[in-house]
Amino acid sequence: MNTPISPTLALLLDLVKRDSVTPEDRGCQELIGKRLEKLGFTLEHIPSNGVTNLWARCGTEEPLFVFAGHTDVVPTGDVSAWSSPPFDAAIIDNHVVGRGTADMKGGVAAMVTAIERFVASKKHSHGSIALLLTSDEEGPATDGTKVVIDQLQARQEHIDYCVVGEPTSADQLGDVIRHGRRGSLGAKVVIKGKQGHVAYPHLADNPVHRAMPALTELCAIEWDKGNDHFPPTTLQISNINAGTGATNVIPGTLQVEFNLRYSPETTIEHIRATVQLLFDAHELESDIEWKDSAHPFITKPGTLTDAMQHAISNEVGITAKLDTGGGTSDGRFIAPTGAQVIEFGPINATIHQIDERVSCTDIDTLSRIYESVLQQLLSKQED
Ligand SMILES: [Zn+2]
Repeated sequence: MNTPISPTLALLLDLVKRDSVTPEDRGCQELIGKRLEKLGFTLEHIPSNGVTNLWARCGTEEPLFVFAGHTDVVPTGDVSAWSSPPFDAAIIDNHVVGRGTADMKGGVAAMVTAIERFVASKKHSHGSIALLLTSDEEGPATDGTKVVIDQLQARQEHIDYCVVGEPTSADQLGDVIRHGRRGSLGAKVVIKGKQGHVAYPHLADNPVHRAMPALTELCAIEWDKGNDHFPPTTLQISNINAGTGATNVIPGTLQVEFNLRYSPETTIEHIRATVQLLFDAHELESDIEWKDSAHPFITKPGTLTDAMQHAISNEVGITAKLDTGGGTSDGRFIAPTGAQVIEFGPINATIHQIDERVSCTDIDTLSRIYESVLQQLLSKQED
């Protein structure tokens, strides 16, 4: 069966063939920028430490509607394990198979063609449209969206609405919209004891024995109960290490790392104080290095979530669930500016996996959904 090549699919194939493993962009943004320039967009390339960023804006009026996304992809893993080479963008069973198809070149292609159709339709009656692209979302994310947002903030360019095209759908295109994300706080802990001979424990101090009851208690803490929009805060130990390798030596230290995905019902200060209090109660001598990598954010149901839910229900006939699950995303850099930020995109079942894929039908539907959101927010209301 031959899949007809729609404009969105053609652009997606072109993007996937560029092997833009993070932080590379491989000309994706230049390609997209040229198309938007033809529509009257003003381009600003904002490179930062080897990262490629693009801010393209059409219009100067408020409100400002922004599509945001990334052109970088994660590494392929074992290329021979793929059904077809990961940068060939083969179409198999009406799906494009390749690295970055779902995360998130499918979303990027859909936003570009949605903008093109919307601008060509001349329904754009007020406000401005912009596209924010970075090649540093899958990497450390320090030179990407954050850098662009800092520049916008410095010149008081304010975003009203932002749709990030990350793959949020679970079983069916349109079933999940993310309207917030949990925070992420990590800790690297060294618990100190005194090294010694296992036969002479009175001359040593075993940090494993000291740490175990404290860590057991730590894992059992109920941090909060979550709220209407967020699940409860969770803590997971990711790494634990102690011992010299010898069976007759009590180790001198124990290293443990854990991460919390936290709801706005808990603060970083509360988490840090609780951990410290617990370690003190167990008389642990410890060094704790905290890593604050993302603060929680939420866009309350309103204009933007309504427009997206309406568009989805019109196109696919289902009511999208508003959800705050998943890992962190670049939405965390945009939301603090006061913008309404949501994420919506293709099915995420294969992201970062071998044979990552996206449905050819879904990306066309996605593009129409994005176009409908533009129409609802930036064209004259007919009814
Ligand atoms: Zn992504």
